[in-house]
Amino acid sequence: MGVTVERMTLLLPDPVLAGPACSGCGGKGITGDQYVWSESTPELLVDVLCPVCTGCGSADHVGCETTRHAEQDDEYDEYDDEQADPTSCPSCGGRRWWACQGFTDTEAYTLRVPCGCSEAEFTPVPAGSAVTR
Ligand SMILES: [Zn+2]
Ligand SMILES: [Zn+2]
Ligand SMILES: [Zn+2]
Repeated sequence: MGVTVERMTLLLPDPVLAGPACSGCGGKGITGDQYVWSESTPELLVDVLCPVCTGCGSADHVGCETTRHAEQDDEYDEYDDEQADPTSCPSCGGRRWWACQGFTDTEAYTLRVPCGCSEAEFTPVPAGSAVTR
């Protein structure tokens, strides 16, 4: 019996693909591995973005959801105030998550860390659920 730490996660719908699915993730955009992000309260269970498609789930990136890419296009950061959606979050640009590089001894990965602006949408993770760490 350990201390039960409340964990939350942000569930995002699977990508909608216009073309073939990524061979790395089967079109889900994430690897299926999850890590615990403990720098917030409650802790967050975060998904690992697929390194092949960088998160959109598309094999050819034709008509893919570019907002799911770990790296955003330059112009994405240069939007001016007149065009900016006043409801979008300045931290994540309305994506509801941000990409964070993580490393283990043997590999690098990109985490899809939920942004605080989406806190109302966080879903509790049952204690004892499988976690890759
Ligand atoms: Zn993929
Ligand atoms: Zn793509
Ligand atoms: Zn945000």
